[in-house]
Amino acid sequence: MSELRWNAPSDGGLFELTRRVPGRGQYRGLVFHEIEAKTILNRVPGTFLPFDWTINPYRGCSHACVYCFARPTHEYLGLDTGVDFDTQIVVKINAVELIRAETSPARWSGAPIAMGTNTDPYQPAEGRYRLTRGILEVLTERRNPFSILTKSTLALRDIDLFAEAARHSEVTVSFSIGTLDPVVWKETEPGTPHPLRRVEAIARLSEAGVPTGVLIAPIIPGLSDRPEQVAEVEAACREAGAGSVYSIPLHLRAGVREHFMGWLNGAHPELIETYEELYRDRVYLPRHPRGRSRSRQQEPRATSQPALPFG
Ligand code: SF4
Repeated sequence: MSELRWNAPSDGGLFELTRRVPGRGQYRGLVFHEIEAKTILNRVPGTFLPFDWTINPYRGCSHACVYCFARPTHEYLGLDTGVDFDTQIVVKINAVELIRAETSPARWSGAPIAMGTNTDPYQPAEGRYRLTRGILEVLTERRNPFSILTKSTLALRDIDLFAEAARHSEVTVSFSIGTLDPVVWKETEPGTPHPLRRVEAIARLSEAGVPTGVLIAPIIPGLSDRPEQVAEVEAACREAGAGSVYSIPLHLRAGVREHFMGWLNGAHPELIETYEELYRDRVYLPRHPRGRSRSRQQEPRATSQPALPFG
């Protein structure tokens, strides 16, 4: 591994690295880089997103989705966007302490805060560090509105907290479910819980009085974009109680594109030509793509929503 940018803060490194911990047992294969972050609340640049502030206690994500939008953030740290992103997890161990200070009534407006906008707040590392839980305890105590986007059923661990928070402020817990197809799921999101377990989690949270939603994302051309596939996800989640349903087609920005196309070349070489045509000069697909060779995507009934990661 190359020299990490946070190793030498006095020479312009990014963070103070306090400890590097190899994962054991259920975390075998992962390395946790425990750091002291300077701040934890991030202001979201741009105005089209439905929130202005985000918190990401982890960087990197062992859910290891092949299309992950956040991969290039690892490059910035001097790590690679492939295996390093999936296994070298940066943990902001002082996140709870920071959120308590940064949302103190004297300095904070009480604006809604989103979690899950960059990496998954309930990825496996959360089972060990419980930073998301600690952050949500502070936000709940302060009755600060928040939203969560995740792919993990570990969120059910905190169902008591969500129910309590929802009694006093605006709270939404959304699951990202791109497909119910078990083959497509396993090959594109190898570290995530089965999508049907996520649908069940929506049902359990809804029954507990927590507002829930689903983000059908990413809809992957040639693999999960048939209208009946999208409709199946929407129907299952609506039946489970999801109050909001959004969808996003796969987008491939620089840094993600190289990783995804490398994977596609090995797993589905028959789709390479189609993708080269579809994404030739663009990152986002148009709303009504035409002329697909393998599958013709119709606009799903779910509402399209622009650029969010896939949680
Ligand atoms: S898409 Fe979300 S869940 Fe998947 S690896 Fe990226 S951050 Fe993790």
